[in-house]
Amino acid sequence: MLDKIHQSRQARQVTGEIPIHHRYTLGVAGERFFKALRDRQELLASPCPQCRDRLLPPKLYCERCFVETTEPWEAVEGAGFVRSFTVLHRSLEEEALPRPEVVAMISWPGVRGGLIHRLQEVEPHRVTLGMAVSPVWAPQRVGAMSDILYFRPAQAD
Ligand SMILES: [Zn+2]
Repeated sequence: MLDKIHQSRQARQVTGEIPIHHRYTLGVAGERFFKALRDRQELLASPCPQCRDRLLPPKLYCERCFVETTEPWEAVEGAGFVRSFTVLHRSLEEEALPRPEVVAMISWPGVRGGLIHRLQEVEPHRVTLGMAVSPVWAPQRVGAMSDILYFRPAQAD
């Protein structure tokens, strides 16, 4: 039977679950980025010839200048820095975490963009904006963001 609904609160609800699986292609730039991650433990950035920004994750064109990025793509060197961060106390399932976790936006000098990843080996209250951090690589890499286990405070050389 069709009921005419005048207010959204009157809509009937059916509770249930629908299993949905997603499969995304990485695209040309993404595939190259993740292969470098897997095979050479490099974070590639693509340079824009006009604004001179290096884009991370790399893109085939600069969204600001509308020009193609140029070869060669460059691996970012040295420590990254914490551009922003948050402290998680609950999981995505809303369950309390045994310990708070830090998730940070990490960037590099001269790079536009960056990566969002876990930050470990530091107490959450000691994390600061601008803190130098470096990746901890997975021993077995598959070409995914999980090839970096997490970031940690950069070791002084
Ligand atoms: Zn540009």
